Amino acid sequence: MSTKTHAQHIIELDKAHFTHPWTVFDVFNDEGALPIAKAEGIYITDSQGKRYLDAVGGLWCTNIGLGREEMADTLAEQCRKMAYANPFVDMTNEPATLLAAKLAELAPGDIDHCIFTCGGSTAVDSAYRLIQYYQNCRGKHEKKHIISRKNAYHGSTYLSMSIGGKAGDHPPEFDFIDDFIHHLSCPNFYRAPEGLSEQAYLQTLVEEFEQTITRIGPDKVAAFFAEPIMGAGGVIVPPNGYHRAMADVCQRHDILYVADEVVTAFGRLGEWFASEELFDVTPDIITCAKGITSGYQPLGACLYSDRIHQVISEAGHERCFAHGFTYSGHPIACAAALKNIEIIEREKLLDNARDIGPYFQQQMQTLTDLPIVGEVRGQGLMVCVENVADKNSKQLFPEALDIGKRISDHCEELGLIIRPIVHLNVMSPPLTITREEVDFIVRTLRQAILRATDDLVKEGLL
Ligand code: PMP
Repeated sequence: MSTKTHAQHIIELDKAHFTHPWTVFDVFNDEGALPIAKAEGIYITDSQGKRYLDAVGGLWCTNIGLGREEMADTLAEQCRKMAYANPFVDMTNEPATLLAAKLAELAPGDIDHCIFTCGGSTAVDSAYRLIQYYQNCRGKHEKKHIISRKNAYHGSTYLSMSIGGKAGDHPPEFDFIDDFIHHLSCPNFYRAPEGLSEQAYLQTLVEEFEQTITRIGPDKVAAFFAEPIMGAGGVIVPPNGYHRAMADVCQRHDILYVADEVVTAFGRLGEWFASEELFDVTPDIITCAKGITSGYQPLGACLYSDRIHQVISEAGHERCFAHGFTYSGHPIACAAALKNIEIIEREKLLDNARDIGPYFQQQMQTLTDLPIVGEVRGQGLMVCVENVADKNSKQLFPEALDIGKRISDHCEELGLIIRPIVHLNVMSPPLTITREEVDFIVRTLRQAILRATDDLVKEGLL
């Protein structure tokens, strides 16, 4: 079979049998998916041999870059030694134990305990099960409500998707939990009411939080869930002081602060965890996944404080924390995470992210001279371009125009992978990225935006 025929064969099989996450069926049935055959560092190659710079880092996850021999050796070695071990109660395995201890060392404050999960969504689910259990152990049986934010993304299980607040992810074809989950405004200063200063805007957000707690009843609110910087919601960097102010409100009302660091941990913002170093908050619970293994294995973790642990483990409760998975603390996944962390430390990849991050942001800002670029925002190695039909009014293009996808399609032609989210384009490259690679991304994206703008003009849409 020629390469071309083989690639075509895979595309047809894929269309027939693989229902992908977030499939838009009419587009998928027509175009299919791009089969990726190989990955090395920041680059991926499709099954026809075309190479792309993957500026999305897989899906915000390939922090150390793919194709590392050392990782392959680690996984193979652990697979030969012991591919699986039962984690339930009275058995453990060395990689899981060592990883839990390492995470306790890296995590802020008194976050010393770890529930291993299979990914980010199950880490968020685990956080909520832990919160329920903790509140019941304290005799606070009514304290079960969660406050989250519009536009947040927390995963795709029934619970984690209900905690999430992206309108597009809550279509009427699905049902969601809405009796104990509440959503505050998205802290997006770009879309704040005209004329409000950043500080005044922050004040409105904090007041909304206070009012929501009062409406539900402080004795019923258990936890506040927040990504330090919203990822899938469009890389929303909140107003200065936002997390500190929200955490103060939490403290006043005995509400747990849960930082969903599935995207932001393990170097994406230049720190192991972003909450304390960058946002001056020591969370009670941190959920993480993705960069914990850089995508070499599926793994997530719900990390939590000594204070919570003392309550749930207190002698005399005589209860069982009945929660966990067959693959909690999977030895190959944990061995991958340990090696991944070792590589980040040895190659000083946090330093690289801290060094290149500001350069990436600066260079991306140069795109704001383009007529359809409303805003470029981000921090560290997370960036988003918001495309608009009118820069003055900030009016969006009609959704059906799919401006983000038009731009990402042009990027793909030019050898660059970026991620479209309706009218947005987001990126989160590996921490190994160089200045030359940043320059390529910015140059190519400029070209792609210009091409997409030309298309719109030709089609009479602009
Ligand atoms: N939380 C956040 C902040 C995320 O960005 C994601 C995934 N993009 C998740 C949770 C869910 O993680 P997973 O897809 O591994 O279940």
